[in-house]
Amino acid sequence: MSKSLQAIRGMNDILPEQTPLWRYFEGTVARLLDNYGYRQIRMPIVEFTELFKRSIGEVTDIVEKEMYTFEDRNGDSLTLRPEGTAACVRAVLEHGITGGGQVQKLWYIGPMFRHERPQKGRYRQFHQIGLEVFNLDGPDIDAELIVLTWRLWGELGIRDAVKLELNSLGTSESRGRYREALVEFLSAHLDKLDEDSQRRLKTNPLRVLDTKNADTQAILVDAPKMADYLDDESRAHFEGLKARLDAVGIPYVINPKLVRGLDYYSKTVFEWVTDKLGAQGTVCAGGRYDGLVEQMGGKPTSGVGFAMGIERLVLMLETLDKIPQEIARQVDVYLCAFGEAAELAALALSERVRDQLPNLRLQTNAGGGSFKSQFKKADKSGALYALILGDDELAQQVVGFKPLRGQGEQQSIAWDALAAHLATCVVQG
Ligand code: ATP
Ligand code: MG
Repeated sequence: MSKSLQAIRGMNDILPEQTPLWRYFEGTVARLLDNYGYRQIRMPIVEFTELFKRSIGEVTDIVEKEMYTFEDRNGDSLTLRPEGTAACVRAVLEHGITGGGQVQKLWYIGPMFRHERPQKGRYRQFHQIGLEVFNLDGPDIDAELIVLTWRLWGELGIRDAVKLELNSLGTSESRGRYREALVEFLSAHLDKLDEDSQRRLKTNPLRVLDTKNADTQAILVDAPKMADYLDDESRAHFEGLKARLDAVGIPYVINPKLVRGLDYYSKTVFEWVTDKLGAQGTVCAGGRYDGLVEQMGGKPTSGVGFAMGIERLVLMLETLDKIPQEIARQVDVYLCAFGEAAELAALALSERVRDQLPNLRLQTNAGGGSFKSQFKKADKSGALYALILGDDELAQQVVGFKPLRGQGEQQSIAWDALAAHLATCVVQG
């Protein structure tokens, strides 16, 4: 196939074999968020470029080198969203739904776009489920976000495979004082820093802490620690969060180097990481961003949120073999019909059964075929039972009912009794 007719590198089709697992994952998260009282919001995929520059920050990896930016026919600079927080803040401001201190607990799901080097767990179109809370400024809500993700890992069966890393970046005042101390320290070692860190020292010094360069890491061992610069308010907030995690029994480690890639965080930052996915180990990340709404032109409004990467979590379910048995089967019953008259009767019968059992996954054979070929299709569909309707059955107004998995003889069931019979033998989701 010519290259221009292939999908773009790093942008993947999710094939029918994979969608059941995606739907299971997305459904599990959606149900959990409903139960905790979060409401879904849907934002456009494209926004003005300026939105991301203003919110994420000019000197972040995303804005510097990862955005898909283009000019539209009006000459406006637009960008495919690289993350959800910016657009979510834009939306709540535009619709005034956080005004007057109104609390909003929101979540979203959808594709995000970043021009990164594609590799396992890192793509150019990827999918996130994100959550943002506005106008709650205590550690209780930070704890709730972490508690509900902990519950999610439990439901998915992957708790043992993830680890919570926590840090506090403090209020902007305490972070400012820390930044000064860090810059002073790093400037004294300037010639020993890697090139990237030298650049970051000028633009976004906290991000030097995030370096992967071993020599720079060695220098950082003696660097000033954020924890020593937290003001009372930040410290009390962080202690409040830890007390709540302890109360629920959620283990965590404090990672003083955790600064997150985006500019807008303050106080709590956290990441759920795993060692099961190789280099792309962060499956869920977030934190508090109390200054962001104001920075984007709104009234001072506290915010806290996180986003999880669906690809990485789906990959984890596959890697750890945590795919529930029941999601593999997508057909309960497969109806085979032979000859024109039987096909007509089968169609009418199928619709009657669907009226009576709206959750039954009933597949009616299409495309005709011999007994043997239809039976093969029934088996391959994964159905538990095959129904058979030929001339004999038609004459008697019955169907043959044959278990496809495990024991049981074929029996005849009257059309009128079919739905009731299926209701007793198929567990409906
Ligand atoms: P990383 O350090 O892996 O680049 P990040 O800090 O850029 O992650 P966030 O912006 O916090 O990531 O996004 C939240 C989550 O979205 C990540 O923890 C990850 O699970 C997922 N994610 C981010 N970028 C990608 C990508 N390019 N492909 C797949 N998943 C991604
Ligand atoms: Mg990144």
